[in-house]
Order: sequence, then structure tokens, then C-alpha cells
Amino acid sequence: MIGLDNGGTSNNATILDLSGDFLVGGLAETPSRVREGPTVAITALVEALDAILLSTGAARADVRAVGLDTPGPASADGVISSKGSTNFMEPEWRGFDVRGALEARLGLPVVYLNDGNAAALYAHHRHFGEQAVARSSASAIIGTGLGGGLVEGGTVIGGAAGMAGELGHVHIPMAGLLEAGQPVPRCNCGFAGDAESVASLTGLELNLLPYWLTQYEGHELAGVEPRAAARAARGYGERGDPLATRIFGQQAMAIGRLFTIVANVTDPDAYFVGGGVVEAAPHFRDWFLDAVAASTTLRPEQARVATFALVPDRDMAGARGAAIAALAALRGH
Ligand SMILES: [Zn+2]
Repeated sequence: MIGLDNGGTSNNATILDLSGDFLVGGLAETPSRVREGPTVAITALVEALDAILLSTGAARADVRAVGLDTPGPASADGVISSKGSTNFMEPEWRGFDVRGALEARLGLPVVYLNDGNAAALYAHHRHFGEQAVARSSASAIIGTGLGGGLVEGGTVIGGAAGMAGELGHVHIPMAGLLEAGQPVPRCNCGFAGDAESVASLTGLELNLLPYWLTQYEGHELAGVEPRAAARAARGYGERGDPLATRIFGQQAMAIGRLFTIVANVTDPDAYFVGGGVVEAAPHFRDWFLDAVAASTTLRPEQARVATFALVPDRDMAGARGAAIAALAALRGH
């Protein structure tokens, strides 16, 4: 099984054998060339596959199936949104069937999932191992947006249109999360007050930072370009800066309130948090995860069985999740 994780600048690839072991330990990155349009980008995916095969001495004939993940929005079977998307800006990408195109080029079955779902699937299988098919989980992956997914019985819940588990666009209660006078945060999807409007790099840049800079006059980040300031905020949080601590406290509370909703929808065994925070200093990352758990309201019966954990191996989670999906499809579940 090959897992291919397609991103804005690079593809990452991995190999999973039929017994479920990964044959590649680290990152295997090649340029994704998505900005040059679909034809070039599909060739780049084939090159990523051939490169990973070469590195392990395997042949194309040994490959049974391929798992592919890309950033969304896309349909359940890998057709990029007709409105385009942040990562696929060229007009040719609109409505493009990236899964079908790769399958046609390779002559191998290709299974598709979005990058949030792939990371959620990897977190689930990594955490539960052989118990994965008997367990359920919810993952919130904090990046530019808030991705993630819901896993039930070891399989990602896809939904009729492929839009299940879009946790970022679930509305969460804002009372007690926002300060008096803090504007209701807005999301790029058009909603106000959904989870992504708070718990994402974009939400931090557009909603949280502008407000909190008014509360900490003279803060160093006031003079920094907004996107760069948003990216720098985590470093401030690691150093205990009061403004950054308030911002990440609101993000953790947003994820906890989101998980409270999930607790009443699928009641999962585990709640995973992933994204940039995983790479933060251990004391900060542990503080953040504890703050998420503290804001997740579970019934006593749920609290006894629930686990909170971080999504490991941030850079490899997508490719590995895609490979796991391919193996599951091959086994017929
Ligand atoms: Zn939204």
C-alpha cells in the first residue's frame, strides 16, 4: 500500500505492508507542483510514488492500492470543489477528479480522503493499534483552518456528500468564551462563532489577535504583519506571554466546547488534538491539551472511559492515514 499526502508545496509518501507495518520511518517529500495545474500535479504524484518505491527497492507491480489525501474542500471520492479551494487556485482544478485522474494514470485502485480525515484515521490507528476496529474517536487538527474527522469502528465517517466530520464549521457556544465587548469571531465559510473562527491560524489572525492587541497596548506583535504575527504567537505562548496565553486559552476552550458537542453526538472513546500545537514545547503542548480536556463537559460515565491525546507525527499523519485507508479498502471494510 502506498500513501500519498498532497500539500500546497510538497507531496509526502509512505509504504504500508499488508500486515499494517510502515516500511518508511521518516518524511519522503517531493515537490507537489499543484500551482502548475492538474496535469503537472498528477505527474508529480506519480513521481512521488516511484521515488518511495525506489527508496525501498519495491516495484510498481508490488503495489496493491494507493491512498491519496489532499486539502479540501473536495467530495468523498476526490472531486475538488467546483468553487476551487485555497490550495487549488488554478481554474483547471475546479471540479477536477484528482482521485480518478491518479487512478487512470497508475492503473491501480486509488482511495481518497481529505487531509484532516487522513490525520484523524492515523491518530486513531496509532493510538488503538489492534483495538482500532472496536473503537471510536474525534480529532481536531488546528492548522490554517480547523480540520479533523470522526472515526467509528476504525473507519472515517464520510457522510452522504463527503462532508461529515467537518468539525471546524460546527457552531459552539460563545457565552463565557468571549470577553465582554469581544466581537463574535467570523469564519471564512460564512458562519459566525463556529469552532474554526477561534481555533485556527486564520481565526487567530483575523479574530483573536486584533481584539487581544487592544487589551495589551504596546505589545510587540502590534507592529508585526498580521499573518506573521499569528504564526509568531505560539512562541510567545511557550514563553508565558499574557496576551498569547489568553489567545491559546480561548482556542483550547473552543476545542473543548466542540468536543462537548461531539460527546453528545458520537460519544467517542478518544479525543485527539493535532496540528502546530503538537510541535510546541512540551510544557505548552501539555497545558493546551489539559485546557481542552478541562473545557470538555462529559457525563461521569463518559469521563471514566474517555482519553485525551495529541495526534503524533504531524508531518507524516496524512500519508500514513491515506495508506491505512487504502489497506482498509483492500480488506473490504
Ligand atoms: Zn466555518
